[in-house]
Amino acid sequence: MIERALALATAHPHDFTLQYPPRREYFQDCFRGSGRVEDARLLYVHVPFCAHRCSYCNFAVDLSADEARMERYVDALVARIGRVRAAEAIDIGGGTPTRLPPHLLRRLVGSLARFGAPISIETTPEIAATRPDVLDALEGVDRVSVGLQSSAGDALSIAGRPDAALHARALEALRRFRRINVDLVFGLPGQADWAADVRHAIALAPDAITTYDCLYRGKGRAMTRRSLQAPSPEAYASLYEEGRALLRAAGYDAPYGAMTYSRHRGETGTSVYFERRLLDGFSYLGVGNYATSHQGDLWTFENASVDRFLRGASGDAYVLPRDETIAKYVLLSLSFGFLDPARYRARFGEELGDRFPMRFAVERGWLTESYGVASFGDLPKLRSLFYTPRAIAWLARAREQQAIARPEPRA
Ligand code: SF4
Repeated sequence: MIERALALATAHPHDFTLQYPPRREYFQDCFRGSGRVEDARLLYVHVPFCAHRCSYCNFAVDLSADEARMERYVDALVARIGRVRAAEAIDIGGGTPTRLPPHLLRRLVGSLARFGAPISIETTPEIAATRPDVLDALEGVDRVSVGLQSSAGDALSIAGRPDAALHARALEALRRFRRINVDLVFGLPGQADWAADVRHAIALAPDAITTYDCLYRGKGRAMTRRSLQAPSPEAYASLYEEGRALLRAAGYDAPYGAMTYSRHRGETGTSVYFERRLLDGFSYLGVGNYATSHQGDLWTFENASVDRFLRGASGDAYVLPRDETIAKYVLLSLSFGFLDPARYRARFGEELGDRFPMRFAVERGWLTESYGVASFGDLPKLRSLFYTPRAIAWLARAREQQAIARPEPRA
């Protein structure tokens, strides 16, 4: 099985991103079930509204500017949040949650105050720079994440993002929050100078900087339809290494292979919600359209359409075998740059090495002896070792069918 997984990861490295399952159809084919997650340890609140769709984005966004509709949406969120018993950490994501008018945002954030949990929210440079009334509505939020993505006009305009001129004003306005994270993307089409992008983010002095590799696969991304060629794993690795060297020289640190760098010693720079979900494997409840929840063996998605969600239409539910839950956990937690045997044992009551070929990965130089990521360029192969045999067989079949449907052109 290892050989088959590695052959697939070598031929199709972009099938092996940190997202698991590799394609949603896999779970739809194999694990459809029913049920709802009623309560969990962590809470995610999804606000789908965006001013426009960025070319690399395939999130569940809604471009409506209709305030009455936004109000109905917030009514539904607040009603659902009212039935949640407890939350240890909260993320408000989207979409662009701060696109809500201030009175609705205040109501939404206010409905979370009773949990006394750390709250993180996402915003955009334009809103942060130009809407102090929106930031005033975020009382109780302690971390804000803002997507800069690049500093270069070409990359930003191809991505459908505003000019970088607003970034400095945005960061100044966000200083009122305890922690600020900025996101950058590497491997964007039109991105000529990644080092300049990283230096630009460093000069803004946020608390944390997250560097994502731009995904070129998946439905719904405008850029995917333009048949752009994704960088090779080696090209991604060289961008990663370049960014990492600059960030560490500037005092931002993270384990090798991690995406988020913090300038505060002992902090990961991500939200508490993210740490507990990905590193500790805590259960989570998602509220909002297309929000996902996971408790025990049940993994659910709310309906993707805002209108159907508001009408109470159901979404998808999957009942996952234990090995699928474990694969999901391991692949996501690798985004922190390591696998933690103690956390794994606490979550699943077994040893990592009893299930996975850890020694093999160490001997190949893909993991360190302490299970840290050792080679960014080999991540697709490393990830493939944690896929279930069922997922590898499904992916191999999907690739074969694709090859039959679209044969390679003859030379
Ligand atoms: S990347 Fe962010 S701002 Fe752009 S469309 Fe997606 S959710 Fe909206």
